[in-house]
Amino acid sequence: MKRKAEDKKKILFPFLSLLFIISLSLFIYSCTKKETMYKESRVLMDTFCTITVVSPSKEMAKDVIDAGFAEIKKLELLLNYFSVDSEITEINNAAGINLIKVSDETLEIMNKTREISQATNGAFDPTIAPVVKQWKFSKDKSTSSVPSKTIVEQALRLVDFRKITIDTDASEVFLQEKGMEIDLGGIAKGYAADKAVETIKAKGIKAALVAIAGDIRGFGLNPSGQGWKVGIQNPRPSSESEKPWEDIFAVLHLKDKAISTSGDYQRFFIKKGKRYHHILDPDTGYPADSGLISVSVIAPEGYLADSLSTAVFVLGAEKGMKLLESMEFDGVFVDADNNILLTKNLRKAIKLLSNKYRLPN
Ligand code: ADP
Ligand code: MG
Repeated sequence: MKRKAEDKKKILFPFLSLLFIISLSLFIYSCTKKETMYKESRVLMDTFCTITVVSPSKEMAKDVIDAGFAEIKKLELLLNYFSVDSEITEINNAAGINLIKVSDETLEIMNKTREISQATNGAFDPTIAPVVKQWKFSKDKSTSSVPSKTIVEQALRLVDFRKITIDTDASEVFLQEKGMEIDLGGIAKGYAADKAVETIKAKGIKAALVAIAGDIRGFGLNPSGQGWKVGIQNPRPSSESEKPWEDIFAVLHLKDKAISTSGDYQRFFIKKGKRYHHILDPDTGYPADSGLISVSVIAPEGYLADSLSTAVFVLGAEKGMKLLESMEFDGVFVDADNNILLTKNLRKAIKLLSNKYRLPN
């Protein structure tokens, strides 16, 4: 009997050790396969961009991050209003003269822009550029001044998104009147975040976050298995704050969605106690005065969140809330009396970090 048990042990021992070695190597393999978060920032589209990816290796992370930034750079070259050789400048220079053949990307963003202008009844209008130009919002606030009423009214005559011709079959764009100009500053960053995410996904990455200033698109889950944690900037940081973008009043988790924030604090100047900012009401040609100071929109794609945050800023709380709810998107608005307004879905999902802003009861 004893002999039989020993024989059995002899057979079982090498088998168990083999099993042990296999499971140990599987364990080590899965440890080395563990996905890690990699992050890099660069200045592109005249702002700070950060790409974060969850990747099985540093080499792969570097490759996909480079590809994501290359995509943003490509769009910057095509869409930059201020560059002499972008396709947007070509279209603007040919206003009232001839159609311009454009790339697939420019054609796509032009069609998406039209879709938003229609959906917002012109609260988002990329032909606002001739008016924006008169306001001269620059980083140097001392050179800023309020343009005369006549100048604003003259420039406003050129504003009408219905006068943009898009020939999708021929890939051509045309502005119907001389002097018309388009500026995609209110939608291009969100669109670029979408394109960067597409590029990163195509390379086999399972989770990433692309942030182009306040235009952020996430996909997949972060390494702790949650949606990406994003903060919303305090629209009225204390004047001593050296890094106002790090002053956050609320956080939420973003899962396969985009968030964009438009506010009256990003580019502005104050003259005679009045704040003049860079989001203009296409009906008046003056900075939107809807009672909101910050609007964040959460939508399935970056171009939607970016353009709609600008549009809702113009429309105001009531119309903006209706618009977002009709599209089933979410929003966080802050008004001039420090009240926070939220779409229904967000009431449980948002965490407030400051008691400066109040939620309605
Ligand atoms: P930011 O570019 O600071 O993130 P937005 O996305 O809100 O802010 O876009 C503001 C920019 O969009 C302005 O600098 C201007 O170029 C352009 N713009 C201003 N008002 C409008 C508008 N009503 N519709 C479309 N674009 C606008
Ligand atoms: Mg915008």
